[in-house]
Amino acid sequence: MSSIIQKGGKRPIIIAGPCSAETEEQMMETALQIKEFCNIDMLRAGIWKPRTRPDSFEGVGEVGLSWLVDAGKVLGVPTTTEVANTKHVEQALKAGVDILWIGARTTVNPFAVQDIADALKGVKIPVMVKNPVNPDLELWIGAFERLEKSGITELGAIHRGFSVYKHAKYRNVPNWEIPIALHERLPDLPIINDPSHITGNRNLLLEVSQKAMDLNFDGLIIETHRNPDVAWSDAAQQLTPENLGVLLDSLVLRSQNSEKLDSEHISVIREKIGDLDDRLFDILTARMQLSEELGIFKKEHNITILQPEHWKKIISARLNRASEYKLSDRFVRQVMDAIHQESIRHQVRVMNHSSDKEEQ
Ligand code: PEP
Ligand code: MN
Repeated sequence: MSSIIQKGGKRPIIIAGPCSAETEEQMMETALQIKEFCNIDMLRAGIWKPRTRPDSFEGVGEVGLSWLVDAGKVLGVPTTTEVANTKHVEQALKAGVDILWIGARTTVNPFAVQDIADALKGVKIPVMVKNPVNPDLELWIGAFERLEKSGITELGAIHRGFSVYKHAKYRNVPNWEIPIALHERLPDLPIINDPSHITGNRNLLLEVSQKAMDLNFDGLIIETHRNPDVAWSDAAQQLTPENLGVLLDSLVLRSQNSEKLDSEHISVIREKIGDLDDRLFDILTARMQLSEELGIFKKEHNITILQPEHWKKIISARLNRASEYKLSDRFVRQVMDAIHQESIRHQVRVMNHSSDKEEQ
């Protein structure tokens, strides 16, 4: 079959289905409701579930594969499930699952990814790879390279967020800069966002899905269940097919290509931004010249470069004004930290006459 997951094809690609296949009836009933309320491109269901604790439901196993495949037939869409080892690959292929995905807990382990890649040698099947649970772009890219070396040509990435010790708003922090960097490195790779596993909360699915669309992601994978509250896994983040239909209808899809627009207005704004950026860098250069003067003074009076108490005062004064600037605390802190590091680099240079090479 020609792949659903491809760049430049239908956008957004919608993958939906329950977190786990639980019973034949639950799979079929969920599929029928999806058929009634949503337009999806691929049906998902977990058959083998990597769970954090041993007494959680760990998936129905091989028996569920035919439930998934049959439900896909009813919907007329291809099916996908997670594989974590060669046995899963063999059983999923035998059952006729159309697309495989590698889960976040498997992507972290190059041995496991290599075993799966080896089991797929000579097989023509699309494979999606979820980001590893740790925010490691190279590890994620390494998984694509292993699959490519095995001859898998149709690849997709799933951004499901990254583990944290203490949950804040989301179950997994999105770290959007990582899938954005993935896109810069592998521009032809479609990237699907997984708001279900990022948020862990059905009430937050829309805001994350919309953000993914505004960041040009190629699709969404969202968990849906006929009766989410009694789902055997990930109950809080699943929503009914009816509510999924409402969510999909309320997504705003904006044009990906600003060049296509009548661009007078946009180019005026971009020019102004360019001018402001020029000024910002002129100011930063002047700022660093002062840092060098300070470095010379500190050298003459034999005092150390780092004055932590003074720096703390500067940061907190700035943070106190963050809301006045309409900037987030996080951004103010990041900017000030970057300025501080650069300032130290300049002071070290004048103090020790070291070369201009950047210290890492
Ligand atoms: C899932 O998609 O149900 C799943 C287990 O996801 P992850 O590997 O992202 O935790
Ligand atoms: Mn899940």
